Amino acid sequence: MIDLYKLPLEGLRLNGTTQQVELKGGVSMRDLTWSVFALASDGDVFLEVKGQAIWQGVCSRCLAPLDRPLVVESQFLGSKDPDLVGRGSYALGSQDLDVVFLPEDRLNEAELVREQFELQAPMHPLCIDDCKGLCPSCGKNWNKGPCQCQPTADQVPSALNQALTKALAGIKLDPES
Ligand SMILES: [Zn+2]
Ligand SMILES: [Zn+2]
Repeated sequence: MIDLYKLPLEGLRLNGTTQQVELKGGVSMRDLTWSVFALASDGDVFLEVKGQAIWQGVCSRCLAPLDRPLVVESQFLGSKDPDLVGRGSYALGSQDLDVVFLPEDRLNEAELVREQFELQAPMHPLCIDDCKGLCPSCGKNWNKGPCQCQPTADQVPSALNQALTKALAGIKLDPES
């Protein structure tokens, strides 16, 4: 635990590693190495979390297992002051820091690290950029070839979207034509 209001003048630095953190939905992070720095700042606390990890989840279209490196580097101001928190940001030197409400005197560094790493987790990761996904009717992985299903009304808009996206990409790539 970090005693937010009994920090040494020069600040407090903690380094650590965490083998595995389970997140929601069968997702996890492994091999976390992190450092936390806390420095008293005018009644509030400047906090910095840095580190890296491997995120383990699945492709958001075809559900294939997936690893992604994560790099975390975040700085913010922790404050008990609801007015300051309401304003949302705080200028410290040349930096504009987000303000996070920390009503307690003590901060659990493991929680802090978990939170900051989780914020960096990919929202819609893809195994490959043009992953074709799964057939909504039979569940076949379209990356491994087409299935025998008849296209349903639901699929038409997405096929149309894909055609449009392709057409637009073509225009961007070749503005002369
Ligand atoms: Zn995929
Ligand atoms: Zn199918």
